[in-house]
Amino acid sequence: MDLLEYQGKQLFARHGLKVSSGKAVTSVEDAVAVANEIGYPVVVKAQVLIGGRGKAGGVKLAADEAQAREHAANILGMDIKGHIVRTLWIEHASDIAAEYYASVLLDRSAKRPLVMFSVEGGVDIEEVAQRTPEKLVRHHVDALAGLSREEAVDIATTGGADADVVDGVADALLALYEVWMAEDATLAEINPLIVTPAREVRALDAKVSLDGNALFRHPESQGLSDSENEDPIERRAKEEGVQYVKLDGDIGILGNGAGLVMSTLDVVAQAGGRPANFLDAGGGSDAEKIKQAVDLLLANDAVKAVLFNIFGGITRCDEVARGLIAAFEEIKPSVPFVVRLDGTNDVEGRRLLQEASLPNVHAAKTMNEAAEMVVALAAGQAVGASA
Ligand code: GDP
Ligand code: MN
Repeated sequence: MDLLEYQGKQLFARHGLKVSSGKAVTSVEDAVAVANEIGYPVVVKAQVLIGGRGKAGGVKLAADEAQAREHAANILGMDIKGHIVRTLWIEHASDIAAEYYASVLLDRSAKRPLVMFSVEGGVDIEEVAQRTPEKLVRHHVDALAGLSREEAVDIATTGGADADVVDGVADALLALYEVWMAEDATLAEINPLIVTPAREVRALDAKVSLDGNALFRHPESQGLSDSENEDPIERRAKEEGVQYVKLDGDIGILGNGAGLVMSTLDVVAQAGGRPANFLDAGGGSDAEKIKQAVDLLLANDAVKAVLFNIFGGITRCDEVARGLIAAFEEIKPSVPFVVRLDGTNDVEGRRLLQEASLPNVHAAKTMNEAAEMVVALAAGQAVGASA
């Protein structure tokens, strides 16, 4: 679960990491009122779950009320790489002497937390990592022992932090590590971590991702999910307890079992198709569950055809076919479906489908055949063998 900058900063502040004080607003009037209250200059910052806001024009300094109004009006509603700005964060502007970079994440290959630090922050850190890797300090932490003050000082010194702010940077790294650990974050990143002319070290930006599976341990963070920016269908699926992931193609994928759904994605991609989403209908064959799953899949307007891939094991294909027939009697899908039934009682299942002669439903025996059919159907081509 990704947090907006201001939500990340609130977590930072809770763990003693220095941030500028500010307020989140959703209207131009509130933005101006908050800016007046904070005192100029202020920064008006788009709150969207995407980086590079500054370059896109979503971060602006305002010296007075007129500028605050102008920037707030321009940034609210702005489309930043497909993310519409609905919330602004207004904070008192900082004077900047240096822009550093700091992050903590889990290095899966090393099986350890990784702390990274660079004095070349602010700009694209990926570029620093690529072009001048020696300017990005990478330090693995013993997760049981935690990050010690000595290690933090060493990271700051090795990274080339100015001598008079090594302590301040070490404090920031320790606090950031604590945020990462205590909040069950998968990523905690500050870019830039600034040094002010008064030599104070402060987080000017925050990128925090929390582990959604650990949210039950953090009741205070449960309200942070950015439901406004979350895909509404993914939200509905979550509420209904269905495994659903949105992608950006035009073929809906439905299967029973996570492994089968994953392979279905691969086979469809191999046949030249682009999945629009995928949904795991689980083991059951219950018509109500199938109907719910199909409803969710079709809620996405981009879906032009659906592949329903069933491998009958404990779940018998004839039961699934009955569930499907009952579901389709209610839903009457507007896009073509390809149903692949294989495994236990598949012959009977396909026979039932055939007999029901549902409009827009095509039966297939193998996964490859089904994938080719659904790709053709999504492209508007006709296929044979209708159920
Ligand atoms: P990002 O572009 O999405 O990473 O947004 P940031 O919050 O990192 O802001 C982008 C850039 O705007 C920073 O690297 C700073 O150079 C600049 N910036 C942000 N806040 C301030 C501020 O308070 N004062 C000054 N002078 N510049 C700021
Ligand atoms: Mn940034």
